[in-house]
Amino acid sequence: MQPKPNIVHLPVYQPGRPVEDVKRELGLTEVIKLASNENPFGCSEKAKAAIVDELGSTSIYPDGASVALTADIAARHGVEPEQLIFGAGSDEVILMLTRAYLVPDDETIMADETFPQYKHNAEIENAKVIEVPLKDGKHDLPAMLARVTDKTKIVWICNPNNPTGTIVTHAEVEAFMEQVPGDVLVVLDEAYCEYIDDSAYPDGFGLMRRFRNLVLLRTFSKIYGLASLRIGYGIGDAQVIRSINQVREPFNTTRFAQAAARAALADEAFVDACRTRNAEGLRYLTAAFDRLGLSYFPPYGNFVMFDAGHPSAEVFDGLLRHGIISRSRWNLYPTHIRITVGSQQQNEAFIGALEQVLDELAVRVQG
Ligand SMILES: *Cc1c(COP(=O)(O)O)cnc(C)c1O
Repeated sequence: MQPKPNIVHLPVYQPGRPVEDVKRELGLTEVIKLASNENPFGCSEKAKAAIVDELGSTSIYPDGASVALTADIAARHGVEPEQLIFGAGSDEVILMLTRAYLVPDDETIMADETFPQYKHNAEIENAKVIEVPLKDGKHDLPAMLARVTDKTKIVWICNPNNPTGTIVTHAEVEAFMEQVPGDVLVVLDEAYCEYIDDSAYPDGFGLMRRFRNLVLLRTFSKIYGLASLRIGYGIGDAQVIRSINQVREPFNTTRFAQAAARAALADEAFVDACRTRNAEGLRYLTAAFDRLGLSYFPPYGNFVMFDAGHPSAEVFDGLLRHGIISRSRWNLYPTHIRITVGSQQQNEAFIGALEQVLDELAVRVQG
């Protein structure tokens, strides 16, 4: 039996290590996972109540068209219901976009480094992946534009970019959209947009109204704290959304996810509190990096990528021994670590561990 040749080389996704695993292996009683940009404050109590309310309907298929959630989000953002598509996380919307738009030998352009699911799904469709190096940790939109050919089908812009946390501005995205051909789909992944309070950040909806070839991605996994339920969405031109809907599985999001998402969307106080506490966490972490003389990319989401000044695998292992799970090993950034903003207590534990690890590594370098 032979699988498709273009998937043979694909790695199996390596998630951030589960807390229980690390505890067992290292004999630690407390382990803090700051590896997957999850919300350290959990989710809205109203979302939990909405899940409980659905328990009696577990045997009934969910609403495949997510009618109620679609109406809520359409009203929130001032778009038509036909402009929305839901997925099992925005990951699934990425999958559906590639399934609907890419055939073998089509070209798709993305940054290097960026969110790995764009490349992963494009490769499954046997499309040609063009990776354009980040510049100072930021998408180099002019360089990406220069790589557009008549074979280009999708351009991916991750904003803020995961893993670097940097943003491209409204003016930069607007200039890009004005120049890219109208038949090239541009995907603006805004997984962390709710954390941002900066007037330079793009007004994605305004741009989407002007440019029919722009699709926005949003998720309930990050600030809304519903990562385990798997629900995210795409917003775009009704024709584009219809094409994506044609490849969607009939019941791709669950009853629990839809109900929790509606409740989470309505609980603005929870989102505001998370945004405020995240901003405090970012200030604490960046001040600590400044004090330790470590450089970092300007962070806009709920994570920071900093240069630890030592091979990242060594820093990662050191942090792990102190009970902190981080993310490391990016081709372009061999000494960088990405850390999620935790609660204040978790952030302090992380900085304490980092100081010890850097001391240990400094002794090793001298010795
Ligand atoms: C976390 C993340 C997503 C997707 O998360 P889902 O849980 O699949 O909704 C998408 N894009 C980026 C850049 C992310 O960091």
